[in-house]
Amino acid sequence: TEEQLRQAQKMEAVGQLTGGLAHDFNNLLTGITGALDLIKKRLAQGRAADVGRYLDMAATSAGRAAALTHRLLAFSRRQTLDPKPTDVDHLISGMIDMVRRTVGPGIGIHVVNGLSPWAALVDPSQLENAILNLCINARDAMPNGGQITVKTENCWIDARTASARDFEAGPYLKLSVSDTGTGMPPDVIARAFDPFFTTKPLGQGTGLGLSMIYGFAKQSGGQVRIHSQPGEGTKVALYLPRHDGGITERGAPIEDIAAMPR
Ligand code: ADP
Repeated sequence: TEEQLRQAQKMEAVGQLTGGLAHDFNNLLTGITGALDLIKKRLAQGRAADVGRYLDMAATSAGRAAALTHRLLAFSRRQTLDPKPTDVDHLISGMIDMVRRTVGPGIGIHVVNGLSPWAALVDPSQLENAILNLCINARDAMPNGGQITVKTENCWIDARTASARDFEAGPYLKLSVSDTGTGMPPDVIARAFDPFFTTKPLGQGTGLGLSMIYGFAKQSGGQVRIHSQPGEGTKVALYLPRHDGGITERGAPIEDIAAMPR
């Protein structure tokens, strides 16, 4: 019946949400475990003076994990998330140490900030999760090391480009995470946003990262696109709605938007 169908759809949505939260929660636990390991090593080496930093990192990840469980509780009470004007460059600089530690050695992270003074209208903790997930995917694509670039720019998408690419025309903040990794063949790009689609070995990938990022981008009134060439690397671009705050300057027109995979 129609009611059963609605119920099934609701269960599916809840399953996706909780699975997604479990995924993020697990990333944060990995950060805490990593920091605790480092503390143990430093103490064994008699370098007690170094542990303060790692304690801070563990505390930060624990705080983020608590924020995640609050989101789950908020959802179960049917509260909706409220997006707010978010200084994305500031958000990135506040989390980049944690990201560097999570991706580990052998991978350089280059940050190119180009937003000031613009803000995005998004949920900041969801944006942090998205950035962390994108950097973890980039790391996983570079088993022999490489370079991650996190770049922000202010842009304008004109009506012609927008309609050819299923966008709303207007001002966006573009946040991209690029890597020098394996890249993705077209059949992987086509399925990358599907929940539970993963090419990673059992136990290593949940296939929820990109589907959650897609959901976050769409719910925020934005978009997400993948540019990738096997052997050359991958760029995932988030287009976030800009909070204008009275600023009317348009930003540079952006035309190099990937088509949505079909
Ligand atoms: P998971 O990372 O758990 O597999 P995702 O939804 O984040 O789930 O990603 C789905 C798939 O997309 C990955 O298994 C991988 O094949 C591909 N992918 C995602 N990001 C990248 C990247 N930066 N480089 C190469 N492949 C990627």
